[in-house]
Amino acid sequence: MDYISTRGAAPALNFEQVTLAGLAGDGGLYVPANFPSFSRADIAAMAGLSYVEVAVRVMQPFVGDALDEAELRDLCEQAYGRFAHAAVTPLVQLDGRQWLLELFHGPTLAFKDVALQLLGLLFEKFLARQDKHLTVVGATSGDTGSAAIDALAGRDKVDIFMLHPHGRISDVQRRQMTTVRTPNVHNIAIEGSFDDAQAMVKRMFADREVTDRFSISAVNSINWARLMAQVVYYFYAASQLGGPHRKISFSVPTGNFGDVFAGYVAERMGLPIERLIVATNVNDILHRALSAGDYSTGTVTPTAAPSMDIQVSSNFERLLFDLEGRDGGKTAARMAAFEQSRNMQLDSSMRDQASALFTSHRVDPDDMALAMRWAQDRAGQVIDPHSAIGLSAAQNADLDPAVPVVTLATAHPAKFPDAVERATGIRPALPRRVGDLFDRDEKYTKLPGEYDAVKQFITANATPSDG
Ligand SMILES: *Cc1c(COP(=O)(O)O)cnc(C)c1O
Repeated sequence: MDYISTRGAAPALNFEQVTLAGLAGDGGLYVPANFPSFSRADIAAMAGLSYVEVAVRVMQPFVGDALDEAELRDLCEQAYGRFAHAAVTPLVQLDGRQWLLELFHGPTLAFKDVALQLLGLLFEKFLARQDKHLTVVGATSGDTGSAAIDALAGRDKVDIFMLHPHGRISDVQRRQMTTVRTPNVHNIAIEGSFDDAQAMVKRMFADREVTDRFSISAVNSINWARLMAQVVYYFYAASQLGGPHRKISFSVPTGNFGDVFAGYVAERMGLPIERLIVATNVNDILHRALSAGDYSTGTVTPTAAPSMDIQVSSNFERLLFDLEGRDGGKTAARMAAFEQSRNMQLDSSMRDQASALFTSHRVDPDDMALAMRWAQDRAGQVIDPHSAIGLSAAQNADLDPAVPVVTLATAHPAKFPDAVERATGIRPALPRRVGDLFDRDEKYTKLPGEYDAVKQFITANATPSDG
């Protein structure tokens, strides 16, 4: 399988290369040159298979000859063996047509583990082959940092430097990062906001003094392998609910458009999906784009669902590329204009194509709290604020009542105990497997919010690419 850039001017890569790459050289994102296609019989044959077996079948065409089937199965067994539930991503029924797909049984209690546990193993495998050292640099407002650190801790030939805004993430989120004590993990608390941290990371990716010596890479959802790993659970859930013989809808709490884009890929591969509901909180750029064609940025409002508090959804470019007929030149021009004006209008043909599959819904804080209480009172399920936004959208969007709706439950409620307690009166306990989080020692380096201080720290502690 070849991967091409959404902006049409970077070389095509194979799976091994695209896994280790970040942004394409032309500023675009890599996507598969074509979508593999599964017949109804292929999908019907997934019924009753384990998560790992479904994962191998769904991912093999994307992986191509970078891994043979036995190698891919071995990595999936290692990655998903670390999940605390035998089904990896179990389905829970809420009422006659509403279901939850629990994606939070991994080590750091958010769905990002599903992709990052596998990505850590892919990095290690490919770096050993290439005899290369990788330096992962990222900024986090919470969930990505802890999932990436857990996935990369102790792995050969890779260091991870994760920046977080000092004092501005929750205690659980900070401790999930700073109590990991392997020498290849470097936590940096910077004075400043998440946006300041993110801006420093972006600058470092463009700093030749750094990139000439170090092979730096990203683990945010612009990484193709992450999206690929998320396609699996759409197939897994649908086949348990009667797919491909009936259609299923999915409601996806959305920030960077990575998770819901994986659902789109599943549909393109042949999975019968009725609707993909893009659920947003009040930071609703995607809802405005899909319902009114208006993709323009404003300022971020902090909410109880912080992983969806975004201004720009990087993976939306992957959908735009398809809506432009996969024309890289047109996508590049569109993105260049957007980067200037922070405003983009989708024309009616693009909107019509998108609305054939996508529905969007914006959920305000009252409706989010209502959904948490409904899940608790009607189904005995304590759900987190992000999942509640998905559930509220599933209940309130205009949908065919005969079609089952699966809401993706993206975080464990104990990750956001204050918001859950405010809405339901119940304070969810941390699962036993992470229960000693508050007894472990923390280690992190505090730095001023200045690029040169961060650069100096990273270049002094990272290993050069040929080292
Ligand atoms: C990252 C995250 C999201 C948003 O997912 P995207 O792929 O960025 O759209 C939703 N909920 C939780 C809990 C997350 O950590």
